[in-house]
Amino acid sequence: MSVLEVKNLKKSFGTIHAVQDISFTVDTGEVFTIIGPNGAGKTTTLEMIEGLVPPDQGDIKFGELNWDKHSNAIKQKIGIQPQSSAMFDLLTPEENITLFASFYEKARSTDEILQLVNLTDHRNNHVKKLSGGQRQRLAIGLAMVSDPEIIFLDEPTTGLDPQARRNIWDIILQLKQLGKTTILTTHYMEEAEKLSDRVCIIDQGKIVTLDTPSALIEKLTDEREVRLSFLDGEDAAEDANHFSKNLTSVIRTEREETLLKLWTTNPEDTLYDLFGFTKEKNYQVEQVSIREMSLEDVFIAFTGKEWRD
Ligand code: ATP
Repeated sequence: MSVLEVKNLKKSFGTIHAVQDISFTVDTGEVFTIIGPNGAGKTTTLEMIEGLVPPDQGDIKFGELNWDKHSNAIKQKIGIQPQSSAMFDLLTPEENITLFASFYEKARSTDEILQLVNLTDHRNNHVKKLSGGQRQRLAIGLAMVSDPEIIFLDEPTTGLDPQARRNIWDIILQLKQLGKTTILTTHYMEEAEKLSDRVCIIDQGKIVTLDTPSALIEKLTDEREVRLSFLDGEDAAEDANHFSKNLTSVIRTEREETLLKLWTTNPEDTLYDLFGFTKEKNYQVEQVSIREMSLEDVFIAFTGKEWRD
């Protein structure tokens, strides 16, 4: 069952068409992730859905509710992770949660929220003394105070170290177990791949593809990445690079020092031809691998842009 339906959303800022005709639905209990290059329109899309930015055109429906007629009801239904700056640094996590809870008619207990975001041990420390990961966990806790059905998390792990990031993943998975719906944006592909039920890739204000991570990867199955590293240095790798570009099975290539990466529709034929070439030239290949495709490959294939971390 869908909890959110977005239809033909559009938003321009002067001559910048930030969002150009975006439509999707989000189902109850799913983690729905929006990814895209810088300036793709992710934040603008989220802010329109959250009721913070009015769309120029389009419909946003939470079940039967819309912002024009039912804004109070929607506000009880959704939770938005606040910016760090919205927290009170001189208060404790417990005090921040209690304060936020006082804004709502119904709220989860402070103890429950602290437990959910694993901050019980830090409940009495001042927020300004918390680490980046702890602050982000508190921000998710604050989004949860009204016990919303849908939680919006805009890049909740940006800038965190891998362990702190994983702690946030655990919370997102717990929210899912509680039956909550999460709408997420992230800069980390691994995160999108691990957490999401569905991933929506946006580029230049438009959806370029939307599906489960595995279905998106399967769409690329005719393309595999082959890697070869050369013992004879960069010239050998470049020579092989030049040779590969002329093979009909090879889609594109990249060379990084002595490593040659190529994307091919037929790894067997490509390797057969390449080994013929290296044998003829007497080049020594140190390592060969055929890599599984990942969401990062999907991103590059659909947007033509490198992923940034
Ligand atoms: P990032 O990953 O860098 O956060 P994003 O995908 O969230 O990017 P948006 O922040 O939605 O992208 O921005 C989309 C485009 O709209 C960008 O070109 C941005 O500069 C522009 N934009 C966003 N908000 C405004 C605004 N208030 N005024 C003018 N231009 C804006």
